[in-house]
Amino acid sequence: MTDHEHERAIDIITRHGADDIAARDTAWLEAHLAQCAECAEYAALVTSTGQLLRAVAITASPALVATTQARIRERAAQLREHQARVALIAVSFCIGVLSSTISAWLWWRFGGWVAGRLSLPASIVEPGMFVAWLLPAIVIALAMLASSRPVIDRSVTLAMLGEREGDR
Ligand SMILES: [Zn+2]
Repeated sequence: MTDHEHERAIDIITRHGADDIAARDTAWLEAHLAQCAECAEYAALVTSTGQLLRAVAITASPALVATTQARIRERAAQLREHQARVALIAVSFCIGVLSSTISAWLWWRFGGWVAGRLSLPASIVEPGMFVAWLLPAIVIALAMLASSRPVIDRSVTLAMLGEREGDR
């Protein structure tokens, strides 16, 4: 038996599982292993190492998968929360612009008349329009600050995740 034969055997054993090995090579290897204790021992070692690695992977996998899924769901919940907040801010902004425009128009239309009726000085009409324009936006901004906690309460989200975790 030559060194070359042992090298060939070790090469085939090492590639086994990773590459497609020709039936001819497999047959040759079996014949070689039947005669060569050294290469047979190496083959057994490679096989048991592979089994050990697979066993470890299977043991670790469910816990790892569960943790990863929980993290992904938590992240998804965060993203949904964020999207809901962005939508809320956009809607609030539109309402703010609309109400500011309406109140400014009302003040522009009737402010002078109101100032006249209440015998307010004419100098109040222009600043009054400014105030009328900004007031709704300020009110909405204050309301949003007051409700600045997440749209979906975080503890509720986590409780829902925990429940689903318990289902499995
Ligand atoms: Zn050999």
